[in-house]
Amino acid sequence: MISATGAYISIKNLSKRHGNLEVLRNINLEVTPGELTVLIGPSGCGKSTLLRCLNGLETLDSGTIVINGVVLEKNKNSSHSQSDFDKKARAIRENVGMVFQNFNLFPHLTLLENITKAPIVVKKMTQKEAKEKAKDLLAKVGLSTHADHYPCQLSGGQQQRAAIARALAMSPKAILYDEPTSALDPGLVHEVLQVMRTLDNEGMTQIVVTHEMRFARDVADHIVHMQDGKIVEIGTPEQIFTSPSDDRTRHFLRNFN
Ligand code: ADP
Ligand code: MG
Repeated sequence: MISATGAYISIKNLSKRHGNLEVLRNINLEVTPGELTVLIGPSGCGKSTLLRCLNGLETLDSGTIVINGVVLEKNKNSSHSQSDFDKKARAIRENVGMVFQNFNLFPHLTLLENITKAPIVVKKMTQKEAKEKAKDLLAKVGLSTHADHYPCQLSGGQQQRAAIARALAMSPKAILYDEPTSALDPGLVHEVLQVMRTLDNEGMTQIVVTHEMRFARDVADHIVHMQDGKIVEIGTPEQIFTSPSDDRTRHFLRNFN
């Protein structure tokens, strides 16, 4: 991390239920601008739900989230507060990018069209401006020559790099990644991780759910270990990998050696 141009993120006492299931239990987490935070933990522990809460895709049962200056809280039960929540959630989604395991590009649009769509529709950018920006971003992720390709003509690694370029087109203050390399052939993982490294060097705030422990060790400012809806441990890579304070962390990491 060099300069900090990204967003500050603060989560206080966040809880989230799905029916009777407590998916997130009293989560507290601070991410300072420009940090790269890696979220680890076993399947079903709540990692995706936490990212979805941060991106305004889930309502909260208690607690607060502050992200890029927007405060999200539990809805009070009135239609007024619902629309207030929705408004804030939209503001968050305009300024916080999300990248998914399965790329989620629009299959019927070229890469250039995928990347220009939101800036034109949401940010009211002109076609020309949006195209210029998209071309710069495609160059940044190494896809200059693929602007007119459709997603199905690309490898998974190329699609995921295009998905990151699409997120960047909205000039986000933070990007959240949900297992961005889990669907890729092993040989294509590196090229996607490399894009996240570059963005880290540029001061982007990033939260990455991943099982790529080597990446976590090399690049993360902090690693957050979750189990059963709770944060078990937060530490620097050195703390987490060499002297975890919680036995569950040691145990979890054993699966990756
Ligand atoms: P992870 O990403 O760590 O694998 P998730 O956040 O996807 O975990 O899920 C956490 C828990 O919440 C799981 O038990 C999952 O089945 C449950 N869950 C997630 N989304 C929903 C939903 N929309 N409705 C009901 N249960 C859900
Ligand atoms: Mg998940």
